[in-house]
Amino acid sequence: MNASSDQLRTLLRETLGFDEFRPGQERIVRGLLAGRDVLAVLPTGAGKSLVYQLAAQLLPGATVVVSPLLALMKDQVESAEALGVAAATISSAQSAGDQAEALARVERREARLLYVTPERLEKPEFTAALAQLPVSLLVVDEAHCISEWGPTFRPAYLALPTAIERLGRPTLLALTATATPWVRRDLIERLGLRDPDRVVLGFDRPNLFLEVRRVESEAEEATALHQLFVEEDNARPDSPDALPGALEATLQGSGIIYTATTRAAAETARWLREWGIAADYYHGQRKRADRDRVQDAFMEGTLRVIAATNAFGLGVDKPDVRFVIHRDVPPSLDAYYQEAGRAGRDGEPARCTLIYRPGDLGRAAFLGSGGQLSGEDVARARAGLVDRGARTARALAEASGLSRPDVARVLDALADAGIVSARRGRLRLLVPDFDPAAVSLEREERRQAYEHSRLEMMRGYAELPDCRRRYLLEYFGEEYPAARCAYCDNDLAHADDPVLLAPPADGVYAVHARVRHPSWGVGVVQRVAGDAITVLFDAVGYKTLRADIVEEQGLLEPVPT
Ligand SMILES: [Zn+2]
Repeated sequence: MNASSDQLRTLLRETLGFDEFRPGQERIVRGLLAGRDVLAVLPTGAGKSLVYQLAAQLLPGATVVVSPLLALMKDQVESAEALGVAAATISSAQSAGDQAEALARVERREARLLYVTPERLEKPEFTAALAQLPVSLLVVDEAHCISEWGPTFRPAYLALPTAIERLGRPTLLALTATATPWVRRDLIERLGLRDPDRVVLGFDRPNLFLEVRRVESEAEEATALHQLFVEEDNARPDSPDALPGALEATLQGSGIIYTATTRAAAETARWLREWGIAADYYHGQRKRADRDRVQDAFMEGTLRVIAATNAFGLGVDKPDVRFVIHRDVPPSLDAYYQEAGRAGRDGEPARCTLIYRPGDLGRAAFLGSGGQLSGEDVARARAGLVDRGARTARALAEASGLSRPDVARVLDALADAGIVSARRGRLRLLVPDFDPAAVSLEREERRQAYEHSRLEMMRGYAELPDCRRRYLLEYFGEEYPAARCAYCDNDLAHADDPVLLAPPADGVYAVHARVRHPSWGVGVVQRVAGDAITVLFDAVGYKTLRADIVEEQGLLEPVPT
């Protein structure tokens, strides 16, 4: 299906009330209308729902959107309807009658968009009913949830490939806000995207000021926070560290302080209250009623600061968050930027501060790895499969006592070894019995190497001597043409130095070049800075090499794409 630029713009104006596309939106819509799969890496707020709302108006069949959270779904439907796009939802929270009515509305073409939870698509009767509509486009929102490498792995997403088949293989749009090239490859493979158009856009948030405060001991963390909230107000304006005017006021606004543990969240809130700041804490172990009360107060603005674990934030959209402070180092830059990016959604100046204690990296590594899969876990899975006859992932989790993410990882290892196959959610044992000790955990070891390398990239950010924005964007695979942004702590410290623009590199020193290393295999150059070159290797994750040694020993050779 083809539509001219004029037709698309007319529809954009008349149906959705926008004059112009934002960068990349038209390319995505055109791809979808032509039946091409698209992987779009767009941060929240980059207008990602607009692309499928528009495509839904032009496609012959229905557009189904898989959304991971009921709260998120509700917001999406409200924003679609505010634009005059009728949308229906189906979730297990509705009665059977309401679900049937929602489906009927789509069937009668009263609604072109249908939002569903991934769990609904696990049901064969439901996908059979959808296939009758028929479905032209399946949108997988928060698509990184299918990647077990990612921090938000959602087992129900693993049922999507089967559901896609049952729906007659509609065109696919995978949407994600944070995905490194590694996670991108993983989700392309798992969802079965066919030669997708990859659009990476909009990671730069120029209104976010990026800074790192280094401390050497846990005791200094309170001091660092005290400096930020109390002493900075009284800082001499002629001090070389003085911040641009608009930034000074950010800490007077509302903000989030992320901590790695529930204990630290409560403790941080207590410190702030002692300093006369309206603060409370939020984490998964607080009572539901308390969490709701704290969140509501924060959204309304009666509570100025919320100290929270990463349980707080997904689906929370408060535009005027003026700062996000991390008291502990997150396990990856993906996690960091997703959380820090909750600041300044209104485009006004906002501040993202990482309090960095080098000794913290060990704990971050532990929290990021999600535990280590062991031979013992494989033995428990064997007992579940062979002795107790579990034939679905859920049954296996129950029979073995393993968590759903661990079950998914064990099943991957068993599938690699040719012991188990999965089809339409049913597990099939291809051999009558097997020796758990003989199952290779190579993929698991790769995962750990990858997690470790992501943490090294996080350390690199925290210890960076130059522009933090450039480093961050290059990590996500987006090019940043300027040598520095002038809106991060390191740039302010060097504001008077001349800016030297390096001549564009070629060969193995070009960012995004594919290269091969004798021990680590194939990878993509992520960053070239001074005498260091960072490569994301398919097998081992991020590695930083010294340019002079690479040169001398011819360590990297170009790989034709
Ligand atoms: Zn900068």
